[in-house]
Amino acid sequence: MAQTARIVIPATNREVTIPSGLFINNQFVPSADSQELIHTINPATEEPLCSVVAGSAKDIDIAVAAARQAFKTTWGKNVTGFERSRLLNKLADLMERDAQALAEVESLNNGKPVRIARDFDIGDSIQCLRYYAGWADKILGQTIEVDNKTKLAFTRHDPIGVCGQIIPWNYPINMWAWKVAPALACGCTIVMKPSELTPLTALMLSQLIVEAGFPPGVVNTVPSLGSVGGAALASHKDVDKVAFTGSTITGRKIMEAAAKSNLKKVSLELGGKSPHLVFESADLDQAANWAALGILYNTGQDCTAGSRLYVQNSIYDKFVSLLVEKSKQLVVGDGFDEKTAGGPLVSKTQYDKVMGYIESGKSQGAKAILGGEKRPGKGYFVDPTIFTDITQSMKIVQEEIFGPVLSVGRFSTEEEAITLANDTTYGLGAGLHSNDANQCMRVSSMLEAGTVWINQYNLLNNNVPFGGKKQSGIGRELGSYALDEYTSVKAVHWNFGEKLDWPL
Ligand code: NAD
Repeated sequence: MAQTARIVIPATNREVTIPSGLFINNQFVPSADSQELIHTINPATEEPLCSVVAGSAKDIDIAVAAARQAFKTTWGKNVTGFERSRLLNKLADLMERDAQALAEVESLNNGKPVRIARDFDIGDSIQCLRYYAGWADKILGQTIEVDNKTKLAFTRHDPIGVCGQIIPWNYPINMWAWKVAPALACGCTIVMKPSELTPLTALMLSQLIVEAGFPPGVVNTVPSLGSVGGAALASHKDVDKVAFTGSTITGRKIMEAAAKSNLKKVSLELGGKSPHLVFESADLDQAANWAALGILYNTGQDCTAGSRLYVQNSIYDKFVSLLVEKSKQLVVGDGFDEKTAGGPLVSKTQYDKVMGYIESGKSQGAKAILGGEKRPGKGYFVDPTIFTDITQSMKIVQEEIFGPVLSVGRFSTEEEAITLANDTTYGLGAGLHSNDANQCMRVSSMLEAGTVWINQYNLLNNNVPFGGKKQSGIGRELGSYALDEYTSVKAVHWNFGEKLDWPL
């Protein structure tokens, strides 16, 4: 099979060539032992897009060996921070140059509108690469005074080694950048496994790795099924760290595989069922905008989706009707129209899952005050859906739906709001809207979440850490905190004067 695939961009009828092999040692190659292919689908039309090679466990072995070789010879301790920074900046420039082309393929493969992919996902990814380019020559240890005259200790923050990175389909480019940028800044080498649903842009980005000038083997990309390539990476004895974003159930498997193989370091960014609280003093119009963004952005396929909204009784009716109006304003449809803000869900599986939750909400007695019905026509589109009259035990309130489906409940006191917000096994994001500063401080300190947004929602910054508590994950991405995930601290004790009297 040729190691390229072609897809046609519908808006312009332009044909785009996408590398379709496995990317190992800066080359696109066939699988060593498998004929399996990954068939991608356009979720807006349900039409096939193109097929790429599906990597096997043996291919993961080969990619890990390439990454190890690069770590020992051209990367790791063989490259200066200045050079890592230069290459990351070059990669960012190339991503900026190709932003439109990447956005178009991201839209076709994932469903998100081109404008959103380009201006948000890719814009943020470029900034992420530049942010970590800034860190690459500032990975510093400490000098620690032990004894003024005879001894000194210092620490080195060594690159941890070969990193397996397993990413999901909801932000294919963005998750790629969040993983690749800090790992490269620290001097690690990478075997990246994109989601089998959305492998195309990771392959396009692999071409940019070559063009930027990274040595062979520093970044390798192996599209593969999770149960094949993902599992092989997590259980590989020569992988030093695995970084994962995806479901809690898979995160558990990855941690188990890591424990059973070589106790590799693990970071997990998992699911959520994030609460969003609206107190009576809030700016209701603004709170409704943020609440709509919280559940509808990326068609709700967001680990921090604000999927449980609790509104104070005194403003409940007014707020809910405002939110319904705002939700109706979302422009859902053609991803190539610059006005579109909402796309389809990523796949038939995801569509069936979300529609199943909508049915379960209805059958358990919740009231759909917006949406909740199947849309006619092609594509995995689901209308914004808002449920009221919920109880805490309902499936739609407890489980991560990963679709544009919001459960709205009510509370009377601050204490009750905090109890409801924390009533979940997850702890990823939480939002609160209030114009009472003391209340903002009190409530934000009590919310069990890795990120709390006050009077906003869902906005992240590359210099601010992100990650979960409880069953939403382990470790932190972004900010200086992510550097800890890709470095290993070595303490060096240096004696320049003390004599040891022996025997003791
Ligand atoms: P998933 O966890 O199965 O997949 C995420 C990544 O893990 C993919 O690259 C997949 O190939 C890989 N994977 C799957 N099984 C694996 C295994 N045994 N070992 C190693 N890697 C494996 O998620 P999904 O099936 O794509 O989506 C299911 C649900 O996960 C969604 O409905 C949503 O609730 C959640 N999800 C969360 C996030 C997030 O950002 N937190 C992202 C995507 C999906």
